[in-house]
Amino acid sequence: MQCVENVSRQNCPVCMEDIHTSRIGAHVLSCGHLLHKTCFEDMCRTGAYRCPLCMHSAFNMEEFWEQRDMEIAQSPMPTEYQDTKVKIICNDCQARCTVAFHVLGMKCSTCGSYNTAQDGGLIAPPAIDARQPAEQPLEEETDAQHRE
Ligand SMILES: [Zn+2]
Ligand SMILES: [Zn+2]
Ligand SMILES: [Zn+2]
Repeated sequence: MQCVENVSRQNCPVCMEDIHTSRIGAHVLSCGHLLHKTCFEDMCRTGAYRCPLCMHSAFNMEEFWEQRDMEIAQSPMPTEYQDTKVKIICNDCQARCTVAFHVLGMKCSTCGSYNTAQDGGLIAPPAIDARQPAEQPLEEETDAQHRE
């Protein structure tokens, strides 16, 4: 857990220089971390959206995540990955969840953020040939043979 009292004594996480002795104003991120106003602007310019210290989203990302939802809906994963799951840790709400694996991003099922980190490897669905013998009734096999 972050200790708020220590936060103000920390150096700017972008340029590593002191914030309080600097003439440049400070910017407070939504997580409570401070950085120079100019360093924050640099961060925005380079497309960084997370606090460099705690990885919490530095902006209101709702619209961005909606956009991501759409992109993901439009680009389904190849069939072999469709049932693949992965464990994630959410950088925004710290929740751990198991969600569908997607190259464009994994959405936290607790807060809806895509600001998540993969926790471990992919979890493959049960192998197809392992579940087939149990589920497939014998009649079907005979039917298939008849059709041939
Ligand atoms: Zn700085
Ligand atoms: Zn932070
Ligand atoms: Zn979350």
